[in-house]
Amino acid sequence: MSSLHSLDIQSLLAGYQKNDFSVQEVAKSCLEAISKKNPQLNALLEVSKDRVLARAAELDQKKSDAQRLKLFGVPIAIKDNILVKDWQCTAGSKILQGYRSPYTATTVARLEAEGAVVLGKANCDEFAMGSSNESSAFGPCRNPWDLERVPGGSSGGSAAAVAGSLCPAALGSDTGGSIRQPASLCGLVGIKPSYGRVSRFGAIAYASSLDQVGPLGKTVWDSARVLEVISGWDRFDATTSKAPVPSYSDALKESTLKGLKFGFCKSWLEGVDPAVQKAFENSMQLLKQAGAEIVEIDLPYTKYSLSVYYLIAPSEASSNLARYDGVHYGFRAPEFKDSETLYNRSRGQGFGKEVKLRIMLGTYALSAGYYDAFYLKATQVRKMIQQDFSNAFKKCDAVLTPTSPSTAFKLGEKSDDPLKMYLSDVFTLPVNLAGLPAVSIPCGLDDLRLPIGLQIIGRPFDELRLLQMARVHESLFGVLKHP
Ligand code: GLN
Repeated sequence: MSSLHSLDIQSLLAGYQKNDFSVQEVAKSCLEAISKKNPQLNALLEVSKDRVLARAAELDQKKSDAQRLKLFGVPIAIKDNILVKDWQCTAGSKILQGYRSPYTATTVARLEAEGAVVLGKANCDEFAMGSSNESSAFGPCRNPWDLERVPGGSSGGSAAAVAGSLCPAALGSDTGGSIRQPASLCGLVGIKPSYGRVSRFGAIAYASSLDQVGPLGKTVWDSARVLEVISGWDRFDATTSKAPVPSYSDALKESTLKGLKFGFCKSWLEGVDPAVQKAFENSMQLLKQAGAEIVEIDLPYTKYSLSVYYLIAPSEASSNLARYDGVHYGFRAPEFKDSETLYNRSRGQGFGKEVKLRIMLGTYALSAGYYDAFYLKATQVRKMIQQDFSNAFKKCDAVLTPTSPSTAFKLGEKSDDPLKMYLSDVFTLPVNLAGLPAVSIPCGLDDLRLPIGLQIIGRPFDELRLLQMARVHESLFGVLKHP
């Protein structure tokens, strides 16, 4: 039973039904894989063996629940910017080192109510700002496909934990691409839900009008199952929608592309890696063979997404991160003489370089005299980008793009050049600005055998159809064999 840690969710659930193994056996297998592989990967920042085994034993006591619960005995890693009571929550920052969560995020509470086992807290870029996991205060995380390369970010630890088969699924958060880009670089299925589909209660805020929590898994079915468990209205998050949550995983049986139209934008492919381009074109062929029609669309304002995002996200971050003052929680500078030096030194020593850069950018964009020219202008262009997508959806049912313009890059390759790093998210940022759902699915390997991802963007709250489309692609392309 040594390979239980590499089973996907669907196989785990089937195994429990047949009594092939116990939750404790699965948990032990994951913990063994962690002690073997995590020192190299640095995917998980905290693993509590005792808590995991106690939870597994508790579930084994209630075997009959295996029939009823949607994620019975499924170990899941949680990005370290999502709260789990009594576990650490650092958001990858020194300023929250040692902070223990006083309560559990709604998403995690829902996973646990359906029988999931919280396995550990996953490494991430500091406050989810980054695309490589290199801005984490607790060291970079490595890509299981090639240890010299980044797993992507900011949910790099979540992606590496799943791709490295430490566990079958993980939660990440996505503000501008942080679930989809690491999913792409690690050969996984990652879903960024529509804004308001999933509760943000207990998720540490980066840019509140863009943040969403979502799953990373090895298959469309697995990610769909986790999504249906965490979705839905939450009285603790006023931005959640009351729209009913369908059973996404069950609906995958009815997946078809007959009569569906996919839009794509030719100009978006300029400057993209040739291998990524080739895989993207191959995916379009697969979808056509399955009965879909491909139409060319124009999204004229999306070219401003990067500029708009890097005004709106840092502005919201500068406000959200004002609470880390050395008084309320986490790190406090050891020496200070009054409250002002306490704040300044705690923030100065507690935040990393990228976070400081964003706070300064955001504070500047919001300041009197610059607000109209920068922040306000950005919110206006954001509306035009939203309008671009509404117009596109009159012509097609979903939009196709590569998830990332390149495959996994080497550690250090982009860390000195913020703009180069920011460009990793050109295809994912517009989706958050427009509040749409999108999924990244594996669609190829480059010459170095590094995974390539395809992004499918859906209409607001059309996750069901989006996942059915992804499932058809998966049935034609197949599931990658993970390292
Ligand atoms: N890479 C983008 C950023 O640095 C997106 C991050 C995210 O989605 N959390 O802001």
